[in-house]
Amino acid sequence: MSLADKDRIFTNVYGFQPWNLKAAEARGDWDKTKDLIAWGQDRIIDEVKASGLRGRGGAGFPTGMKWSFMPKESKDGRPSFLVINADESEPGSCKDREILRHDPHKLIEGALIAGFAMRARAAYIYVRGEYIREAEVLQAAVDEAYEAGLIGKNAAKSGYDFDVFVHRGAGAYICGEETAMIESLEGKKGQPRLKPPFPAGAGLYGCPTTVNNVESIAVVPTILRRSAAWFASFGRENNKGTKLFQISGHVEKPCVVEEAMSIPFRELIERHCGGIRGGWDNLLAVIPGGSSVPLVPAAQIIDAPMDFDGLKDVGSGLGTAAIIVMDKSTDIVQAISRLSYFYKHESCGQCTPCREGTGWMWRVMERMRTGDADLSEIDTLYEVTKQVEGHTICALGDAAAWPIQGLIRHFRPEMERRIIEKQGTGSMMEAAE
Ligand code: NAD
Ligand code: SF4
Repeated sequence: MSLADKDRIFTNVYGFQPWNLKAAEARGDWDKTKDLIAWGQDRIIDEVKASGLRGRGGAGFPTGMKWSFMPKESKDGRPSFLVINADESEPGSCKDREILRHDPHKLIEGALIAGFAMRARAAYIYVRGEYIREAEVLQAAVDEAYEAGLIGKNAAKSGYDFDVFVHRGAGAYICGEETAMIESLEGKKGQPRLKPPFPAGAGLYGCPTTVNNVESIAVVPTILRRSAAWFASFGRENNKGTKLFQISGHVEKPCVVEEAMSIPFRELIERHCGGIRGGWDNLLAVIPGGSSVPLVPAAQIIDAPMDFDGLKDVGSGLGTAAIIVMDKSTDIVQAISRLSYFYKHESCGQCTPCREGTGWMWRVMERMRTGDADLSEIDTLYEVTKQVEGHTICALGDAAAWPIQGLIRHFRPEMERRIIEKQGTGSMMEAAE
């Protein structure tokens, strides 16, 4: 089922209207926010749980459940905090950027309601360092909200005091990992912490903290206004709601678009992107969830439902729903080698399998690209990805391993062809013997 215009949450995602408070109010934002807060913490959390909303930053953890981990009583007078992850750095991801620059009031209103629901004293919005204009717009929107009494003391006349701080990152991908983000907010080097403890137990300044993605927070006011049942009517069991998809690469019209979860890949591309460049026969492979998930060959993705389970079934994941489309002109080995370089560059270097493994994998991938590797190294490379996967402090190690595993799983003949051609050792058949 495709989404009708009347069911879009992000009605200004293309910036056709101003982002400012007056225009946002005309779009329905900040409408009786006080009444929503009057529902009380438990009812708000129950409604978010009932909506089926799962985290939109990549991992898909149930949002309402995450909020319910926050303490109901303050221990030793310690405050609780909401941290909003706007450090959107995943290659292919560009949805939070559109919210920040075109619909910032949805995020700020969502921050107030979510913050109230989890009894947070303040929200810190951590914005990717490269998003300079976006941070400027967001800060201006926060200033407007303060001036209008919507946040700050007695926010939106609710009787609740709630501050919102915009914090700019400095361009490190790893600061998008929630505990590295907390370290960075505390003024330290952005390096992930071991989990557990999860942030709800010990987060920012050692206080209970929930870290949520921009989209996860920005949809909350609309879910409460239109009801959990309305949101849950899109998608399918375990994969509910609407979602911002970001489609880049070899489609006729790359775009960011809000659609119903579970929309089949072909329908999404036909409806919003004008099809695959050169037609469907020209599709080679797709990375469906941002660079941290394995690629999927054309035949397996075309009818796949674009949701958490549908993409798991084809050996990949929804991630941030950043869909990178590659047609047959793509040098697939080079593309994955380039991603390997990215992960090597962004590794914080804290744990050995990631620090050493990402560099090692990239160097071998480069020799795969040029055909200078040995055929036996394909298996060795796969083994090394398995040594990295699941053996690191944070998910960056997995993210570095999975694209290579996907390449070997689906494009091994192409890797072999390069090596054989470069070495001039005869046909692939002879080499296999
Ligand atoms: P994760 O599964 O470790 O955690 C997801 C969230 O659930 C976290 O907030 C975590 O604290 C919480 N959580 C998980 N288990 C919990 C438990 N038992 N108790 C309490 N809370 C719990 O995943 P992650 O490392 O936070 O994120 C990885 C994902 O991030 C990847 O799938 C990737 O798609 C995505 N990603 C996104 C970007 C981006 O730019 N948006 C960049 C890099 C990676
Ligand atoms: Fe740092 Fe990589 Fe270890 Fe994550 S997996 S903590 S990025 S070294």
